[in-house]
Amino acid sequence: AAKNAGRNRFSYFTPDLQVEAERRLRLTNDLRVALPGEQFQLCYQPIVDLATGQVCKAEALIRWLHPERGTISPLDFVSLAEDTGLIVPIGDWVFRQAVHQARQWRDQFHPSFQISVNMSPVQVRQDSLLCARWSDYLAREGMPGQSIAVEITEGLLLQAESKIDEKLLTFRRAGIGISIDDFGTGYSSLAYLKRFDIDYLKIDRSFVHNLSVDGDNQALCEAMVVLAHKLGLQVIAEGVETTEQRDFLKAVGCDFAQGFLYSTPVPPDEFELLVWPLLAERAADAQG
Ligand code: C2E
Ligand code: MG
Ligand code: MG
Ligand code: MG
Repeated sequence: AAKNAGRNRFSYFTPDLQVEAERRLRLTNDLRVALPGEQFQLCYQPIVDLATGQVCKAEALIRWLHPERGTISPLDFVSLAEDTGLIVPIGDWVFRQAVHQARQWRDQFHPSFQISVNMSPVQVRQDSLLCARWSDYLAREGMPGQSIAVEITEGLLLQAESKIDEKLLTFRRAGIGISIDDFGTGYSSLAYLKRFDIDYLKIDRSFVHNLSVDGDNQALCEAMVVLAHKLGLQVIAEGVETTEQRDFLKAVGCDFAQGFLYSTPVPPDEFELLVWPLLAERAADAQG
């Protein structure tokens, strides 16, 4: 047995771990030059108003166009960016891009078009001036706060971080929207929904996934909508892939839907090609 244990222990140091460590190190080094090298791209996924069918919002989702490895998903580099602190300048870049895109689409599509950006807890924790800087940027650009919403996770609100109230209040005062992302997957302490002034609750796609066959998920989605509405929040369902899911969500009063049913996240030019026909169709409908 001792011999086996010894062997297992030895296998703990197999090259696999070293390979993984080296991969992370290389990727981290590459990440340092990605921003100055203009290797990031912001894609946008439409968010549809279920009552009108109108595309009135979009979520900005970052992509890394690595010169050798091709497109790298945020799932594979956001944690590296958090560990190195690079998430702060990257997040600022995302925010500024989103503000400029919001200006253009407010002019083109919809005067109250809103773009949401994801905010890592590390950004908020490491950078005490972030909320003030973002609010100031909007003001300098002459853009209303409502043109942007920040997506935060439940975990952030539960952190023993006293300043979080103050920071969110800075956003609040600037009129910036606040969404709870991936709702239902974290601690789901309902107390914070009351304590913080939040605009949107985003139902995590794991609850939407098998909505047409899973009675429990139906009950959970419906309950989340009722709860949110009672507290004065609007609800966005993530990961809507089928018309059955959309119809169910609409029937229980969910406000907005986002998912592959409408579009995957796409670059701005594709987004415009996608949204224009939808608007034209609606204009034609309105004329009878
Ligand atoms: P998230 O904020 O929950 O974003 C939604 C994710 O679900 C996106 O993955 C999107 O492509 C995917 N999705 C949307 N609709 C569907 C659907 O119908 N079916 C399925 N299966 N998936 C769908 P993506 O773009 O890979 O982003 C993953 C996560 O990376 C995001 O999750 C967010 O937490 C993070 N992230 C993305 N962009 C940023 C960013 O700019 N900053 C930070 N800090 N995090 C980001
Ligand atoms: Mg999000
Ligand atoms: Mg989400
Ligand atoms: Mg999610």
